Amino acid sequence: MAKVLSGKNRIAVIGGGAAGLMAAIFASREGSKVTLFEKNDRVGRKLLQTGNGKCNFTNINMDESFYHGSAAEAGLVKKVLEGFSEEDCAAFFKSLGVESRERKGCLYPYPETASAVLDVLRFECERLGVNICIDREIKAIKFIKPNYSVGDFSFNAVIIATGGLAAPKTGSTGDGYGMAKAFSLSVNKPLPALTLLKTSDKWFKGVEGIRAEAGLRLFVDGKAAGESKGELQLIKEGVSGICAFDLSGTAARALDAGLEVSLSIDFLPNIEASAVYDYLKERRDGHPERRAEFFFTGLFHKRLSELFLRKAGIAGAKAAACLTDKDIAGLSHIISGLRLNIDGTGDFSRCQVTCGGVMAKELNDNLMAKKSPGLFFCGEVVDADGPCGGYNLQWAFSSGVAAGRAAALYG
Ligand SMILES: Cc1cc2nc3c(=O)[nH]c(=O)nc-3n(C[C@H](O)[C@H](O)[C@H](O)COP(=O)(O)OP(=O)(O)OC[C@H]3O[C@@H](n4cnc5c(N)ncnc54)[C@H](O)[C@@H]3O)c2cc1C
Repeated sequence: MAKVLSGKNRIAVIGGGAAGLMAAIFASREGSKVTLFEKNDRVGRKLLQTGNGKCNFTNINMDESFYHGSAAEAGLVKKVLEGFSEEDCAAFFKSLGVESRERKGCLYPYPETASAVLDVLRFECERLGVNICIDREIKAIKFIKPNYSVGDFSFNAVIIATGGLAAPKTGSTGDGYGMAKAFSLSVNKPLPALTLLKTSDKWFKGVEGIRAEAGLRLFVDGKAAGESKGELQLIKEGVSGICAFDLSGTAARALDAGLEVSLSIDFLPNIEASAVYDYLKERRDGHPERRAEFFFTGLFHKRLSELFLRKAGIAGAKAAACLTDKDIAGLSHIISGLRLNIDGTGDFSRCQVTCGGVMAKELNDNLMAKKSPGLFFCGEVVDADGPCGGYNLQWAFSSGVAAGRAAALYG
C-alpha cells in the first residue's frame, strides 16, 4: 500500500537528467513538494558528457523549425520554447551563478565545464528542498484514483523525464516508453539520431581518416530530404562529424521505413556548383605542366585527389595541360556532388539523441497526457529532437520547465 505524503501538490519526477532536474526546480518554485527518483547513484550523468564535457546548453539562433518529430510538426515544440526561451535559459543559469560563453551561436558555461551546469541545478534542488532519491529505479507507475503511486509513495502528479535510448550507459534505457505504453499512449519508434552515417560503397575504402569541409545533401528515394554544411570526417564505416550527425535522424527514419538513402557530398561548398568548372579550368591553365596526380595539391588531401581522378577515369600521369574540358566537367561534377549510398547509422551506444518517443497527439500544451491527467512527460522521452548545437538541452530544459510548472498547478 503506497504511503500518502502530507500536503497538496505532491509531485514525483522520474529521472534526474536535464529535463527532470529542471522540472523538479520549477515545480518546487511553484510551491510543490517534489520527490525525484534517479536510478543511477548520482543525477545528471549524461549532462556531464555533453558538448565533450563543456556542455553546449543552448543556442542564440533558436528556432522550432530546426526540430524534428511529431512534437515539432504539431507546433508543441514552438509553444514549449516560447514558455522558456534560449534567453530565459541563459538568464536562468546566470541567476544561479553560471555565466555564458558564446562560440558560433552555441552557449557554454563560462568555464566550459559541464559540471558547472549540473552543480547549480543540484544546488537549486537542494535549496528548494527537492527530495532526491538516487539508486531508485522506477519500474512502474500505478494510477489509484485520485493519485499516482510511484515506489512506496503516492503523488498528485508524476513527471516522466527518463530520457530516450541514446548513450544507454548514462542510464537512459528507454524506460519511459514502457511507462507511456502502460497508460495506452502511443510512442513513435525510437531510433538513433546525431550519429554517423554508414556506407558499404566499395570505392569509399581508402579515404578513411580524412577530414574535409563539405556541403551535404541527403536524398530519400531520390528526393532531397535535408542539407547541412561543415567539417566532414571520412571514417572506416562511412561519414561522421556534426554535418553528418544533423542528417542522421532523417536517414535513420527513412532506412527504418525501407527507403533508399543516399548522400551527395560537395567538397567545394564555398564555390557555387556552376562556378566549380571555371575554377578547375583556371587551375589547369595556371599549372599546365603539372601531372594530374598533383592537380589538386594544396586543395584536397592526396587520397581524396586520387579518388576524384579514379572516379573521373583520369590517369595520374596525364599532364594537366592534356585535361580536356570534358575531363574538367567530369571532375567538377564529382567534386561538387559525390554520391554515397547510406545503408545504416550508428546505434544507440554511438548516438547523442533519440528521435521518436511519446507522440505529440497524446500531450496537451503543458506536456500532460490527455488520457491520463496528472501524468506529464518532458525531455528526450517526448517525440522531439534537434540538431547539434545546444538544441536538445534547450528542449530538455524548456520542456522540464513546462511540465514542472503545469504539474505544480495540477490537482
Ligand atoms: C555524448 C553526448 C553529448 C551531448 N552533447 C549535447 C550538447 O552539447 N548539447 C545539447 O543540447 N545536447 C547534447 N546531447 C543531448 C542531450 O544530452 C540530451 O538530449 C538531454 O540530456 C536529454 O535530457 P533528459 O533529461 O531528457 O534525459 P537524460 O539526460 O537521458 O536523463 C534521464 C535520466 O533518467 C534516469 N532514468 C531512466 N530511467 C529511469 C527509471 N526507470 N527510474 C529512475 N531513473 C531513470 C536516467 O538514469 C537519467 O539520469 C548530448 C548527448 C550525448 C549522449
